Amino acid sequence: MKMTREQALRTLGLGKSPTRGEITSAYRKLVSKLHPDKNSSNLSKFLETKEAYEFLKKVGIKKGLSEIRELICPFCYANLTLSLAERRRDCDIVCPQCKKDFSLDYGLAFYSSLSTITSGNCPSCNTSLAFDVNARVPGRLISCANCNEEFYINEINGEGLLPNTPMFCSSCYEPLVLNLKERRGDCDIFCSSCNTETKFREFVLFNTSLSPYTQGECPNCCVKLQFPIGSRIPDELIECPDCKESFYLEEAENLTSEAIEQSIAHKRRDIRLIEGRNQFNRGLLVLAIGIVVTFISYSTAEDGGTYILTSGAIFWGLWDVIAGFLKMS
Ligand SMILES: [Zn+2]
Ligand SMILES: [Zn+2]
Ligand SMILES: [Zn+2]
Ligand SMILES: [Zn+2]
Repeated sequence: MKMTREQALRTLGLGKSPTRGEITSAYRKLVSKLHPDKNSSNLSKFLETKEAYEFLKKVGIKKGLSEIRELICPFCYANLTLSLAERRRDCDIVCPQCKKDFSLDYGLAFYSSLSTITSGNCPSCNTSLAFDVNARVPGRLISCANCNEEFYINEINGEGLLPNTPMFCSSCYEPLVLNLKERRGDCDIFCSSCNTETKFREFVLFNTSLSPYTQGECPNCCVKLQFPIGSRIPDELIECPDCKESFYLEEAENLTSEAIEQSIAHKRRDIRLIEGRNQFNRGLLVLAIGIVVTFISYSTAEDGGTYILTSGAIFWGLWDVIAGFLKMS
């Protein structure tokens, strides 16, 4: 027979809500009176007293009614409304749906272990989802109705996942889009660009240790540089493509992208200037040759063919001189 709180209290001759001290003193008084050493016919009464006391020590001393009036069955997730006796722990809770019984404390522990998240976006496809009790049980995988990816409820907030921002393959430095399993560390990180698998830990270590500098200035020749992933690995020497000097990334001043753009525009202007000067010089040379040949052919013989040739050269030379001059200005 299962003992109830009411029975136990009656056995010890106690009122509805005794204190811990009242229970102990009532038990001691009864036990010394009923001890089998004094009268062996009291044995069953003695044992009953002991049992009642043990029962109260376990559950009954917790005084008062449970504040919780509604629970969820830890077995079938049915919604339960608790009776007064159940809230008082006088009896176990029996689920009317699955007929299983459990103690109030077990029910409360289950209830408080449920995630408080009732809605959110799928961490894989970002579809908004609602979560029933079933999905809120800790450690349970939830399948997204939209993308069929499986995830845990706490991952709704990105908890325990690598961020959704671009990360890079530690072998070929290509940016990678990680799936949920990879973000969770459930499997190695696979890069389809170089067909390499990287251990999760190694991958995270690589990505978190990368220098935040993405652009800067060569500390030797001051040329503006962009730093791709491969040069952002700590303690790795970078070779300047202009002066061929090697330096560490920390030694290069971090620049804004505006400064880099300015420097590129500068370079473009420089190239135009050089091109213009070359064209101007070439035009000058051709022009000079044309004039000299014309002058010689004038003074020696009268030949129509050379006129066409030399006037062509003069025009060509003049054209380059003017175009080159315009490029330089
Ligand atoms: Zn149930
Ligand atoms: Zn999804
Ligand atoms: Zn790769
Ligand atoms: Zn340099």
